[in-house]
Amino acid sequence: MSPKPSEHPVPRTLIAALPHEERRGWLRHGLAALAISALGLAVAGSVSLTTSAETTSGMAGLDTRLEQVAGSATPSNRSATTLGAAPQTRGFSVAQQGSTQPFERPDPAVAAADARVRAAVVKERAAQRAEDLSKTAEDVTRATRDASSKVREKNLAATDRQIRENAVRIATERRKRAIAARIAAEYERKRAEAAAAAAAAQAKATASARTEAAAEAESSAESSAESSTTDEQASSSVPDEEASPTRSPSRSSRSSGRSPMADSGDISSSSRGVSPVPGAVIGAHFGQVGIWARYHTGLDFRAGQGTPIRAVKSGVVLYAGNSGNWAGNHVAVKHRDGMTTMSSHMSSMAVSAGQNVRAGQVIGYVGQTGRAFGAHLHFELYPQGVKYGDLYRAINPSPWLSRNGVYTR
Ligand SMILES: [Zn+2]
Repeated sequence: MSPKPSEHPVPRTLIAALPHEERRGWLRHGLAALAISALGLAVAGSVSLTTSAETTSGMAGLDTRLEQVAGSATPSNRSATTLGAAPQTRGFSVAQQGSTQPFERPDPAVAAADARVRAAVVKERAAQRAEDLSKTAEDVTRATRDASSKVREKNLAATDRQIRENAVRIATERRKRAIAARIAAEYERKRAEAAAAAAAAQAKATASARTEAAAEAESSAESSAESSTTDEQASSSVPDEEASPTRSPSRSSRSSGRSPMADSGDISSSSRGVSPVPGAVIGAHFGQVGIWARYHTGLDFRAGQGTPIRAVKSGVVLYAGNSGNWAGNHVAVKHRDGMTTMSSHMSSMAVSAGQNVRAGQVIGYVGQTGRAFGAHLHFELYPQGVKYGDLYRAINPSPWLSRNGVYTR
């Protein structure tokens, strides 16, 4: 086709200057080009309309591609448009003059091209979109994966850190507890030590006290009458007697010596007592009211000066001396049954405090020292727990003497 429009617009004057036949061909071709260009425009417009909604950069690129496609589909686009204005009016005249065949003929071809273009466009667009979508999906997946892995990593790191911190905390806690336990143990040990020391001191004190008591008991204990040896001790069988504040001085000066025992017949068995003054008559009984302050607090044995006074039962001498009161020279003996006998107004004493005496042993001699009228033995009995000399707590000696086989008249 020789009259194919050039890339440069053809001036109108030039068209006008062309011969008639030439002009007609030009017009015909121009109309066809116009139609094609209109279709191309329509296609481009529709594409740009549909794609204008797209905001992604991929779609924008597609737009330009589509425009290029549209442009290439109508190569005479621009020139035809510029040419179209003038020959349009003439085109009608051409149509009126001749048949419409040449005008309608290109239609199916154009439509086919259009359809092809559309299909291509749609296809390309779909492919592009799919590609973009897949790419986006891939990106999203990768990003998600990255993000999740990053998050997981972070979580793992955090967990790890926490675990480490926990371990450190636990270790610290354990160390603290161990220290506290050690301190507690130390404290406990010290306390135990202190307790042990206190117990040891206590035990020592107790032991020393016991030793003292044992020594005292030993010194005060009396060998049994049945025993053949004087060394045999009845330790602790005789309770320790509390010292009288008024009469105690002699306690410290008691003799450790033991008077030798005579194997005389007047020494009875332990079950039987001995009369303080065997054969003596009772001058005054217990509880009698007479010259005494309230009542007679003992038994009076009538006997001459110097008559031996004997221990009724075995025991330990609590006191032997004169404290300057009504009793004169007197001796107190504590017996194994807890009773204490006290003999007063002695002319002299044969024993000393702390000494063990046997039943029947001479402890002193009848006299009238203290507040006494004539020589006699004033004999008193004190029950267990009562201090000798506590006059008005003395009890009647007669029943006790009788229980021990000593009968008074
Ligand atoms: Zn008396």
